Amino acid sequence: MSISRIYTGGCQCGAVRYRAEGTLADPHLCHCRMCQKAAGNYFMPLANAPRASFRITRGEPSWFYSSEVARRGFCAACGTPLFYDMPGADFINIVLGSLDDPYDVRPLKQSGVESRVPWFSHLPGLPGGETDAGNKAGAERHLAILESNRQHPDFDTEHWPPEEET
Ligand SMILES: [Zn+2]
Ligand SMILES: [Zn+2]
Repeated sequence: MSISRIYTGGCQCGAVRYRAEGTLADPHLCHCRMCQKAAGNYFMPLANAPRASFRITRGEPSWFYSSEVARRGFCAACGTPLFYDMPGADFINIVLGSLDDPYDVRPLKQSGVESRVPWFSHLPGLPGGETDAGNKAGAERHLAILESNRQHPDFDTEHWPPEEET
C-alpha cells in the first residue's frame, strides 16, 4: 500500500529542514558498513522520496561523497545524518529517524545484512527503562535536559531558535 502525503523533517538543531510529498518508497534498514559509519549507529533507516516533490525548506545540508556513486547529506551544525543521495536518480533517500514523525514509516526490509551486528536480534530484549525512571539523580538530570532543550521541535517553525524574551 502506498499513501501520497506530505512528510517533513530535519536535523536536531533545526538548521536544515526538508519536505517531501508523495510516497516514501522502499523503507528499509541498511546494515552496510558505510551506513553504520555514516549513522554512527548499527544501521541506517532509509526510504526514498520522489526528487521532483522533495525540497530543502531551511538551510543547506553539507555533503560527503562517500563514493563516486553517492553522497550523504548531514547538518554541519549539529551532525544529524539526513540524506543518502545518488545524484541523477529521480529520488532521494531520507534518513527516517530525522522525520518529524519517525513512527510514520515502518521499515519493510533490510539490506547490507553481511555487516549486520550479530546480536541485532537481541537488542529489543536488553534490560531498560524509561528516560526519567529509576533514581533521583537521573530524574533531576532528565528535568535539566527538558528545561534547557535546544532540539528543534518536530514541526516546521517560523523562527528558530525562538527569540529570547527580554
Ligand atoms: Zn542541525
Ligand atoms: Zn548502506
